[in-house]
Amino acid sequence: MARARKLLLISPQATFFGRNPQHQRFKRESREFQFFDYTWTGFATGLVIVGSLTPPGWDLHYIDENIEPVDFDEDADLVALTGMTAQADRMYEIAAQFRARGVPVVAGGLHANLLPFEVARHVDSVCVGEAEALWPQVIHDFTHDGLKPMYRQTTRADLSVVPRPAYELAQQRYYPSIWVETSRGCPHSCRFCAATIRYRDKLGYKTVDQVIREVEYVQERWDNPYVLFSDDNFVVDRNRTRELLSRLVPLGIKWSGQSDVSFYKDPEILDLMHESGCMTMLIGFESVSTETLDGIDERNWKFRNLSKYVEAAKTIQDHGVGVYGAFTLGLDTDTKDSFEATAQFVKENYLAGIQVSCCTPFPGTPLRDDMERENRILPDKSWSYYTVFDAVYQPKHMTPEELEEGALSVYRSFYNREFSLRKTRHFKSIYRNLVKKKVEREQALATTGRSMV
Ligand code: SF4
Repeated sequence: MARARKLLLISPQATFFGRNPQHQRFKRESREFQFFDYTWTGFATGLVIVGSLTPPGWDLHYIDENIEPVDFDEDADLVALTGMTAQADRMYEIAAQFRARGVPVVAGGLHANLLPFEVARHVDSVCVGEAEALWPQVIHDFTHDGLKPMYRQTTRADLSVVPRPAYELAQQRYYPSIWVETSRGCPHSCRFCAATIRYRDKLGYKTVDQVIREVEYVQERWDNPYVLFSDDNFVVDRNRTRELLSRLVPLGIKWSGQSDVSFYKDPEILDLMHESGCMTMLIGFESVSTETLDGIDERNWKFRNLSKYVEAAKTIQDHGVGVYGAFTLGLDTDTKDSFEATAQFVKENYLAGIQVSCCTPFPGTPLRDDMERENRILPDKSWSYYTVFDAVYQPKHMTPEELEEGALSVYRSFYNREFSLRKTRHFKSIYRNLVKKKVEREQALATTGRSMV
């Protein structure tokens, strides 16, 4: 019988939060911030998708370098690497070690999509596009004619027919949250967004049945899994969102997702989110300044919606769904006052959590083009600084150090014991109201004889 081939699926180490000592110290010392870090940690989704597309006859070993070291002497016929830009330097080091042993290396993922020709200099083969459209060909070529240096996707993968990701590969590791993807893409095209560059032409969706089957599969393997829906924007197709949420209700999971703010006007979605176990939605507010939001996305959608931010945050949280506000600081109209304005907004509105990033010019984005033209990219900041918490370009109205310190000051004023206690009291009163309303509704149903018997 032929020996099984072995594929190593490797996610390189990454720094979470800024690399500078103040950021790392805050991360170590703030218990309130550690909860944020904990909630948003998960496995590399691209690799479990590659695992699901690899035919029988291969042994698969999934390695997350943030959890376990890579054994460079491990037997392997092929190595698949993925990574965001902050992981690129490490991705190249890992590739070099395996290639020195004669083990071919294939790279995909976000950075490979942003800079394929750079990545191609370090690996045997680069995948540009979605794994579902490319990996079967990679495996075929590896076993027959030899790998090509580059695989480019020509048409979008039909997500409604893709296999379930091989979640079981990540099952043996400890992950606080399990990423499940229901769709890809976002209609907003923000100038700095690297995540959606691949999907700007068209959003892709899994069917609701597929998603439910995946969540059930995850539930069979993890005790009380906390599901993180990794979609760039969970609420784009409202009818689908409603149907999906209704089907999630009986599963009894706890979950978080990411979206824009638009769903706050849809009471049915808000109720269904709460009933289906949605604990938080991460919402990309980006800024609380009209000037900064002007032109931030292709249709100026965020600029037009700024006046609704306060009402939106209140409405969503009053429905029992916490709002994690995502903010991007250091854009050209931001000044040192922007930090205080952001801190004030997130505290006055009692957001459940925040992610405050230093605006980062990722390769391939319109923002990067501007920064390169203006010669403002900091040459001493290698890819490993593209964490979104480190300043990697020269802001207009402050120094890079002031940008990092300013962003950290917003974290400090939000993630501390005193504000956490105030926030807890605020949320307790919301939950008391929700319980009261539920009891009143049930009593009204009982007295009008419309209750289910
Ligand atoms: S809203 Fe978020 S996901 Fe969508 S394009 Fe903007 S930054 Fe990217």
